[in-house]
Amino acid sequence: MQTHNQAAPGALELVRRFLNTWSIPNQTRVEVDNLPVLARDADKWREELSLHPRAESDTLERLSELRSDLRKSCEGLDDDHQLLNAWLARVALSVKAVAAEGGAPGLCVTSADTSYVASILALVANAISSGTWSRLKTCDDCRWAFYDHTRNGSKRWCGMTKGGVDGRACGTIAKVSAFRARAAAKKSPITDGG
Ligand SMILES: [Zn+2]
Repeated sequence: MQTHNQAAPGALELVRRFLNTWSIPNQTRVEVDNLPVLARDADKWREELSLHPRAESDTLERLSELRSDLRKSCEGLDDDHQLLNAWLARVALSVKAVAAEGGAPGLCVTSADTSYVASILALVANAISSGTWSRLKTCDDCRWAFYDHTRNGSKRWCGMTKGGVDGRACGTIAKVSAFRARAAAKKSPITDGG
C-alpha cells in the first residue's frame, strides 16, 4: 500500500531525524546543516533528537562525520560496511538475546556509553539486527532520509505528492523530467528516413 508516512518505526525514527539535520530543502535546493544550531541549544536538541543529551565526546566534528557515514550506508555507498564497522568498533556495545516477535530469539544492542554517538550506533545495530536498517533510505533526488513502508521496499523518492512532508514532490519532479525527456526525444529531427 502506498503511504506517505516517512517516519521510521520505534526509536529508529531518532536516527532518521539525526540524518535529516542535513538536508536540501525543495524551495531553495541549497544544502542546510542544522546540527550546529541544535548542538548549541540543549532544549532544541532534546526536542528534535531526544535520546541522550550531547556528551563531551559528541563534538560537532564527530557528529557530522557519523551523520555523513550513516548517510553513505543508507545511500548504498558503504557496500562492504567498512564505514559502519569502523563506527561500531569505536563504541562499547553489548548484545543480549531477547524474545522477539513470535517468541523467536532476537538481539538487543545497548550501550553503556551514554554519548549521543554511542546511542545512535546502538539504534543502528538494532535496526540491522531486526532488518529495518535497509528500509531507511535517502531520496534519489533531494537526499531526504525516509523510511520505506512499501511492501516490496521499492520506494526511491521521499514523497510522491506536493502534499507530502515539507511540500516535497521529488518523485513527481523526476517523472515529469522523464516524460519531458521522452517527449523531446520524439520531437527530435532524427528519423529513420520515413
Ligand atoms: Zn526528495
